[in-house]
Amino acid sequence: MKIRNRITLWITGAGLLAGLLFSIVISYELIEQPFELLDGELDSQAHTLLAGCISHEGTLVPQTNRTMLNSIGRLYWLKIFNKKGQIVYSSPMTQYADLPLKKKHGGYNVNATIPRDVADLEQDGSNEVTFRVRVIPIPFSGQDYLVQIARPMEKLQEELIDLVVSIIAGLLLFTITLLLAGYFVAGKILDPIARINTLAREINDKTLDKRIPLGKHRDELYTLSTSLNQMFDRLQFSFQRQKEFIANASHELKTPIAMQRLFFSEVLQRGDLPNDLTDRLAGQSAVVLRMDRLVKNLLELSMLELKEVCTPTRVELTRTVTAVLSEFEELMQASDIYLDVELEDAVFVFADEDNLRRMLINLIDNAIKYNTGEKGRIRVSLARKNNEAEISIYNTGIGIDPAERDRIFDQFYRVEKSRASTSGGAGLGLTIVQRIIELHHGRIELDGEFGSWVQFNIFLPLIVPD
Ligand code: ADP
Repeated sequence: MKIRNRITLWITGAGLLAGLLFSIVISYELIEQPFELLDGELDSQAHTLLAGCISHEGTLVPQTNRTMLNSIGRLYWLKIFNKKGQIVYSSPMTQYADLPLKKKHGGYNVNATIPRDVADLEQDGSNEVTFRVRVIPIPFSGQDYLVQIARPMEKLQEELIDLVVSIIAGLLLFTITLLLAGYFVAGKILDPIARINTLAREINDKTLDKRIPLGKHRDELYTLSTSLNQMFDRLQFSFQRQKEFIANASHELKTPIAMQRLFFSEVLQRGDLPNDLTDRLAGQSAVVLRMDRLVKNLLELSMLELKEVCTPTRVELTRTVTAVLSEFEELMQASDIYLDVELEDAVFVFADEDNLRRMLINLIDNAIKYNTGEKGRIRVSLARKNNEAEISIYNTGIGIDPAERDRIFDQFYRVEKSRASTSGGAGLGLTIVQRIIELHHGRIELDGEFGSWVQFNIFLPLIVPD
């Protein structure tokens, strides 16, 4: 479950628990209070009615003089017992229902069935009437009486039911509001974490110098950002060490390999060696040559990673492309490849010229290497497009399987077919190309048809004329 949902549930749960406790206390108070008031009323009416019913001589007041009983007394179910337990008086309502006599301190509820057509006591459809009953011993004029007084409380009960329904509805509404508010609050709480996450995701091996900006408040998120930044510091340091190690190792390997190459070329020039030995030496010489290329590529790549070989100046691309193409002229003729060139004049970029040359060499070298089949063609064009210079290098040949397109820029990645061929390098050529383009804030796109042709389009930001 998402943290946002979990926080929402926690907030709702805690709020609901508090709401529930609050409602219980409130409902208890609200339900108890009317009963207490009613009991108080029954108590005082019991005294009043007893006084209206029994004379000071202890005899029953004659019917005609019982004004109070005839007016107020009609509203109450009333029985007055003398100390022998004999009924001295019973009000008219007692004929509808017989309520049990319980000698309790407080009041109690009794349900009785009284048909509505017999007496209208606001009973519901089932003719059920709830009475609140009190039994009170009252000494009067030297005699002890027991007064049982009751009152139908249908209205009160309805109101109490309404009250409970309102509390439940209120609780429901409260829960829904709490859920919505909780979800919103959880979003607010997690918002800075989501921002840190986005920023942390933007930091990769190419942008290890980026850091998460620290907030103003020294809170938990500040600590989290600081810890992440410290982790990036350590990562950057070890990446740097790794790159430096590769750069140093390739640099150290360069000289012994150059000496070996020299040795093989000198030995192979001798004409007095047996043929089989010459063949074996030629084989070894090819291995050393490949090793030389690999080490040079590794050194180049690690220098690019360390950004130590990028000194941008104003470069006229038209001139650079022409110069590189002229270096390949002979090789293309020897490989029977027809070259088509279409270059716009005076296309200027702000770049490191050596890097641009390396990029063009790698791409054109590949365009020749993978231009298998007869009547090969290479087309190189340069044009301005919006604010960019677009260099396109097209070649016929084996093409690139669409499934391989995303991977050919990976380090040491070579398509299976070219792995088998002797012409290929170590799979670092396009990695170097991509790194150079990244350093110049450009981009590279690939187009083509598998088995037929390939076109690399490179876009570099133009220098806008003043
Ligand atoms: P390599 O040293 O093998 O040439 P690259 O990094 O230059 O390594 O290229 C990676 C792979 O991309 C190559 O092995 C090759 O299969 C494929 N590739 C690169 N350029 C071309 C091209 N112009 N035509 C066809 N395939 C190519």
